[in-house]
Amino acid sequence: PVVLGIESTCDETAAAVVQGRTLVSNVVASSMDEHARYGGVIPEIASRAHAEALVPVVSKALADADMTLSDIDAIAVSAGPGLAGCLAVGVSGAKALAWAAHKPIYGINHVIGHIAVTQLQFGNFPPDVLALIVSGGHTSLLHVADVARHVDVVGTTLDDAAGECFDKVARLIGFPYPGGPHIDKHAQSGDPKAIKVPQGLTQGRSGREHPYDFSFSGVKTAVARWIEQQQDAGREIPVDDVCASLADSVATVLANKAIRGCEQYGSGTLIVGGGFSANSQLRAKLLEVGTEHGIDVRIPQLKLCTDNGAMVAMLGVNLVEAGVAPSAPDFPIDSSMPMDVISV
Ligand code: ATP
Ligand code: MG
Ligand code: FE
Repeated sequence: PVVLGIESTCDETAAAVVQGRTLVSNVVASSMDEHARYGGVIPEIASRAHAEALVPVVSKALADADMTLSDIDAIAVSAGPGLAGCLAVGVSGAKALAWAAHKPIYGINHVIGHIAVTQLQFGNFPPDVLALIVSGGHTSLLHVADVARHVDVVGTTLDDAAGECFDKVARLIGFPYPGGPHIDKHAQSGDPKAIKVPQGLTQGRSGREHPYDFSFSGVKTAVARWIEQQQDAGREIPVDDVCASLADSVATVLANKAIRGCEQYGSGTLIVGGGFSANSQLRAKLLEVGTEHGIDVRIPQLKLCTDNGAMVAMLGVNLVEAGVAPSAPDFPIDSSMPMDVISV
């Protein structure tokens, strides 16, 4: 099947056409430059940018594919989780297109899209894979029984997401928003053992949480306190070492838990996705630990890791192939859509 995917959960307005397992076109516009000076995404600005970009982006995705709406079997759109005003723009636009062209529409879960998209690079999933989804808003370990029908949450962050933790520390150091990529770059010339950074929640606290849950707010606080102490003592901050130590701590706990999860669930494959999977320290650590334990770690190329339309279209293709019923014409957006919901 041929599916047009539309994405507008945060700052990217994106559309793509996927045919089977082939990415036919992929267009991404971002309002990130407009948010940078505020140090974070401003929902009103992002929604307005979606309203401006949506039609041009979708038109270009169809034109690049050399298709019109009549060539499309279905439309898929992110219905959550994300910023409500942003979701509303993409979903309204997608509903209008589906209605005008008499096409079925699927309101899908953006997080599951991050999992589905890896099929474009690595092909279909073997049974029982685990997926680690890490971004500015999410840090989740999921068990994928069937990407179109059944996904379970194995673990999630109890506070900050991994990307959020990087962005907050980056702000303390004085890097522009989003700071994650700057930490990555500086970490490459630092000493990861220079500063003792705690590994958030290595075991699970007092048995109340699931052993595969994460916590990064303590990591951020520990680094913040260390920086403050240095400043108070009049010492210069060894920026590269701070970045390397933070990156090592976060990458190690993510990789160790994900691989341990694979062993417990008997999964020989780990899918990785979300904007934070662009992080070089995490990629290296996952491949290293994966090789050690004989787990096939599938981390897609960068353009498929960050938010895009291909992830939405790919999941749409999976839903059509599985014969899942399309969404009702009045399906709602859900800014805090639960992770085990695949489509609405
Ligand atoms: P959502 O959480 O809804 O998926 P998002 O916009 O936060 O949305 P992405 O666009 O997928 O997610 O990822 C952005 C996050 O990834 C930011 O926190 C950014 O700092 C982080 N990031 C991107 N590249 C890197 C990198 N190389 N190293 C570390 N963090 C990175
Ligand atoms: Mg983004
Ligand atoms: Fe995302």
